[in-house]
Amino acid sequence: MRRILILGATGSIGTSACDVVRSHPSDFCIAGLAVRSSREKAEALGREFDAPVFCGEDAAERAVRETDADLVLVSTVGLSGLAPTLAAIEKGMDVALATKEVLVAAGELVCARAKAQGVKIVPVDSEHSAIFQCLQDGAGWRGRGDVARLILTASGGPFLDGPADLSAVTPAQALDHPRWKMGPKVTVDSSTMMNKGFEILEARWLFDIPADRIDVVVHPESIVHSLVEFADGATLAQLSPPDMRVPIQYAFSWPARLPAERRRLDLPALASLTFRAPDETRFPCLRIVKDAARAGGTKTAALSAADEIAVARFLAGEIRYTDISRLVAAVVDAAPSLPCDSLENILVADAAGRKLAQEWKS
Ligand code: MG
Repeated sequence: MRRILILGATGSIGTSACDVVRSHPSDFCIAGLAVRSSREKAEALGREFDAPVFCGEDAAERAVRETDADLVLVSTVGLSGLAPTLAAIEKGMDVALATKEVLVAAGELVCARAKAQGVKIVPVDSEHSAIFQCLQDGAGWRGRGDVARLILTASGGPFLDGPADLSAVTPAQALDHPRWKMGPKVTVDSSTMMNKGFEILEARWLFDIPADRIDVVVHPESIVHSLVEFADGATLAQLSPPDMRVPIQYAFSWPARLPAERRRLDLPALASLTFRAPDETRFPCLRIVKDAARAGGTKTAALSAADEIAVARFLAGEIRYTDISRLVAAVVDAAPSLPCDSLENILVADAAGRKLAQEWKS
């Protein structure tokens, strides 16, 4: 029986995670639940799973400190996941990580601390789970010399084929994702491909591989969740119908696989799967992220903060859709870079990124 602590229990990942636990009552139990604000929903879940409930601003960190668990699912929103992730590592608890900002902003710090403590950071994001699954051959999954490159698949979002002029895109259009139902921030990030840029950084740290050996391919059907190309020219991929419960369950059950009643892959019904190169002129965020990764230090923390503000300002009608990438690029350029070796430095970079992003004018 694995005892799981869920941080961000009422969000879309947390809700799917509860579903996975519900369908495997003899394999998993919920040791605790933390939410920032949805107290009633969380208390109902607490009663259902007989688990302590933590509510409020610092609920996630308190939950980590006060709960005994084998695995902590970090699925809170944004950088708020960082302090509880570091607390879990300090306590020696393995982490199933869904909040990508934790690695985007502080991957170097988090991975160094996890390594020092012997803590495993297991991916929940569908692409990274796919890569993780492709690397389960007993040879380890971090810093392998036989991996030539990682290939992340991207659905391409709602604007893959139009409109030609993205500057007139409205919040409602950007919030209508064709494949995945997610929160508003990540849905807009998917449409700009910033989400895929973040996933390059996430993969860079999770698998300890330089960002220039991580490629993106657009795959609108979202059936191939990502691929690993090995040094000998063989490429492995993981395929399944899009359903976040698959990677969540694997993060919980790894290295075992547990049966589940889910839609199966029907290849004849799909008939064909398509792939194309991303259009970096239309979607400049991939390039902006790679530039920030090359600059290193806390540049990617500033990038993550800037994107959060940019998306909020776009949703509030303050800036145009195409201003999101312009704003983020300008902030990354202007933000000071500190060494990525302490929570303090990350928070300083985050605050600086936010301030610059608030002040940015088109
Ligand atoms: Mg993803």
